[in-house]
Amino acid sequence: MLMARGVRKSYGGTPVVKGIDLDVNAGEVLCLLGASGSGKSTFLRCINHLERMDAGWISVNGELVGYRRRNGKLYELRDRDIARQRSRIGMVFQQFNLFPHLSVLDNLMEAPLRVRREKPAAVRERSLTLLERVGLAGRASAYPRQLSGGQQQRVAIARALAMQPDLMLFDEPTSALDPELVGDVLAVMRDLAADGMTMIVVTHEIGFAREVADQVAFLDDGVILEQGPPEQVLDNATQDRTRSFLARVV
Ligand code: ATP
Ligand code: MG
Repeated sequence: MLMARGVRKSYGGTPVVKGIDLDVNAGEVLCLLGASGSGKSTFLRCINHLERMDAGWISVNGELVGYRRRNGKLYELRDRDIARQRSRIGMVFQQFNLFPHLSVLDNLMEAPLRVRREKPAAVRERSLTLLERVGLAGRASAYPRQLSGGQQQRVAIARALAMQPDLMLFDEPTSALDPELVGDVLAVMRDLAADGMTMIVVTHEIGFAREVADQVAFLDDGVILEQGPPEQVLDNATQDRTRSFLARVV
């Protein structure tokens, strides 16, 4: 479903992502762990072409992201085509990034209406169903500032789902939340995983990774140092750096 090969990215001559190969099958959950600065967010942003990688390629559902190949060379797609690809890849950030001036319902409806020009009635119905699914059926007309962090993050997840993505990317979705609000957000993500969504989740929630992930990858200084089923990476890590990281976060 997702294939990454030889992905590299530098900032001002400093390599940050140093050759990542990764495969995620349809319906799988991959949890990406790693210390601060190891390149997790940068790699995630390469997946939907929010960052332009320096080398390598990523495909989602067999389609190269951000580029097309012609005579063995890669050419960047037009903005319109990039936007179309991005609309199939949902992204959830640490800081929610909701539109503050729009109601919860309008946050969900905005992209399907504006980007995809869908019929308002259908979008509205789908959005209300999604709000129910994330436990916020009663809050459709609230504004983001009237909600707790956990509720805002669940709105952000529903908003991403409103575009009916094939793949969902989460970048530390619970790191900004008070501890008592983390559980509700993880429950929504668990539900999504059980429903068969393909997900890449950057997280320090080892319990979630253990329970939900099909694969765990440990990123260290821009490379995947270790990868496998949760019990292998979390309990029987072969690399010292993985073990010392886990000892610090658990
Ligand atoms: P964290 O756990 O703190 O979120 P991370 O693993 O997500 O860390 P990245 O955000 O990918 O790490 O950053 C990797 C490195 O790249 C860091 O040293 C960071 O300072 C640098 N970096 C990230 N974005 C930029 C940018 N836009 N310009 C310059 N340097 C950047
Ligand atoms: Mg990050």
